[in-house]
Amino acid sequence: MTKRFADLHLHSTLSDSTFTPKEVIERAKKAELSAVAITDHDCVDAIEPALKIAKSHNIELIPAVELSSESGEDEVHILGYFIDWQDKWLLDNLEKMQICRIERVKKMAEKLKNHGIDIDIDEIFKLSGCGSVGRLHIAQIMLKGGFVSDIKEAFRKYIGNNAPCYVSKFKLSPKEAIKIVHRAGGISILAHPVVLKGERILYDMINDGINGIEVYHPDHSQADAIYFLKFATRHKLLVTGGSDCHGLGKERILIGSIKIPYELVDRLKDAVKRRY
Ligand code: AMP
Ligand code: FE
Ligand code: FE
Ligand code: ZN
Repeated sequence: MTKRFADLHLHSTLSDSTFTPKEVIERAKKAELSAVAITDHDCVDAIEPALKIAKSHNIELIPAVELSSESGEDEVHILGYFIDWQDKWLLDNLEKMQICRIERVKKMAEKLKNHGIDIDIDEIFKLSGCGSVGRLHIAQIMLKGGFVSDIKEAFRKYIGNNAPCYVSKFKLSPKEAIKIVHRAGGISILAHPVVLKGERILYDMINDGINGIEVYHPDHSQADAIYFLKFATRHKLLVTGGSDCHGLGKERILIGSIKIPYELVDRLKDAVKRRY
């Protein structure tokens, strides 16, 4: 049998990618992936349209989400896999997060204005469309307006976590995010751990009940991946990976750059079964 591969970290236009759910699936087909997860930030609205298209392309779509949380200075992203994406309580929580995001973007636009960057707020909302609005949309409008020469500059100078126009999101702790995933029947995975400062937070996540960590990610060097794989093995954590493709949102199309063996999806499924 030919070897099968998966990409468990993809975004769509329902958060901050430029690819529609349909385009994500079509790109996945081209990249010869057998299974994918659309992990939009605080949003599951891509799942329903993607499921139908995935079926017709013979691709397995794993219902998923990427939740934003905060721990001190760290922004901690929690991935949830095999969630019940129609769960009322989950949807209520996501709706609250999306409303907070709208207010936050308005506040950031105000701050940017005070820094001489006059961008049209309606343009940001027009670009983001349905689902979650966020900093990548702001950065794209800044780029379009000629205020920065690339997306990275927008984050470095203005809207990155320690930059002057940054506004934090809703106050959700990683523990609460993990709880949301588990209550929706899902498996919780710590996304791109390389962005976190130090090993202590990894132990905090274990104490908070995290099920696994994302080992394979474009921001991870080979040494990072080896380190996180060892950490996962030592602490009996599940292992996942994905390209974190945002279409052209981050100026480089990443789908196909990270392909993990399908056996890692089987391990996730075993974990779901063990839970019931
Ligand atoms: P938000 O959810 O609104 O806080 O925005 C988070 C999005 O911004 C995610 O897609 C991040 O990957 C992206 N992001 C954060 N920092 C940077 C950066 N320095 N350069 C490019 N994208 C970034
Ligand atoms: Fe994103
Ligand atoms: Fe993330
Ligand atoms: Zn992501």
